[in-house]
Amino acid sequence: MKSADLFTRAQGLMPGGVSSPVRAIKPFPFYTAHASGSRLTTVDGDEYIDCCMAYGPLILGHAHPAIRDAIALQLEKGWLYGTPVELEPEMAARITADHPGMDMVRFVSSGSEATMAAIRLARGYTQKKDIIKVEGGFHGAHDAVLVKAGSGATTLGVPDSAGVLPALTAHTRQVPFNDTEALEALLCAHDDVAAFILEPVMGNIGPVLPEEGYLREVRSICSDHDTLLIFDEVITGYRLGIGGAQVMYDVTPDLTTLGKIIGGGLPIGAFGGRRDIMEMVSPSGPVYQAGTFSGNPASLAAGCATLAWLHGHRDLYGRLEESTRALAESVASHGGSFVRHGSMFKFFFRSTPPRNYREAKESDTVAFTRFWGKMRSKGIFLPPSQFETNFLSAAHTGSDLDELTGAYLACL
Ligand SMILES: *Cc1c(COP(=O)(O)O)cnc(C)c1O
Repeated sequence: MKSADLFTRAQGLMPGGVSSPVRAIKPFPFYTAHASGSRLTTVDGDEYIDCCMAYGPLILGHAHPAIRDAIALQLEKGWLYGTPVELEPEMAARITADHPGMDMVRFVSSGSEATMAAIRLARGYTQKKDIIKVEGGFHGAHDAVLVKAGSGATTLGVPDSAGVLPALTAHTRQVPFNDTEALEALLCAHDDVAAFILEPVMGNIGPVLPEEGYLREVRSICSDHDTLLIFDEVITGYRLGIGGAQVMYDVTPDLTTLGKIIGGGLPIGAFGGRRDIMEMVSPSGPVYQAGTFSGNPASLAAGCATLAWLHGHRDLYGRLEESTRALAESVASHGGSFVRHGSMFKFFFRSTPPRNYREAKESDTVAFTRFWGKMRSKGIFLPPSQFETNFLSAAHTGSDLDELTGAYLACL
């Protein structure tokens, strides 16, 4: 069956026809039949250079042989036991060695689960109620973080979804990204803040980059107010480099959440942090957290193989950085602003790079949608929103990049 027919069928069976809202491309999304390296092939027989890469996890590209072999080897031995496995301490040792902010780690099954548990842990540890997040920051799809952007730092959080009780977002306050004064003012006015959670490089509206010194200042403000600092590195972990933003910017958070890349393309999440905080997690402490699929061997096998590959090919990060730099130079004369950080990049249809959510939202989304359609007709699949980051992977070749650059120049 072809994409249009499949989508029609799915719409009668699944809300919006999809399993996650961003996939509901108008008038209908293409259905993928198979993928390899940098390329997706659809059930209609079309091929795309993929710059979505499943929204971040696939830093080695699709169906990477090293990861496929690791998963296959695990499948022969079974893929879920309900008991501990050797891969857990192996993966935990790797992750804690790579991240200065993680002495211990707990594996879960998604990034959403990781941020939900990290927030609970911060509250359990500090015995404080409120959390602060960044306006427009994304931390998954659970109640405490589904707060409408623009509700302002001094007002209580307003739910961004039907079905979320106002009482559950009332303890979530927001500040703009790159604004330490707003954070300081909020923490001075409220002494009941358990944690400030942020994406150190915003990946879900952009990318939007932290200004010089921002993360360091955030660190010291949180310490001054006995508020835990949570870096949500679900995108940036192993994406900006080994050790993520905390190594790149040399700022150590109290808690870190990971996901996406660390599962090598299979479902995973993790949260970790200072030993005294992590020891509060059940069964060693009173903060409850559990999961049937947590630390499942298939995800850990894929994840361990991915992290081992990245450790063995550290030059990848410089190469990807160079690729987006070259792309940025090629499109520099076009009107909007090209923002990039290593292998994360985006062309914003606005004159200057956004500093925060409000500025990102000023982008011309009509122009973006027109551009996106043209890119698609040239065989380039970009995430279908002005506010989702594009990704490159190890599998994107020189000729892919030439094709991508040519398409940008033709479509902007
Ligand atoms: C993707 C993402 C999440 C949610 O992860 P899921 O695995 O989709 O639940 C949380 N935080 C950030 C920063 C993300 O990019």
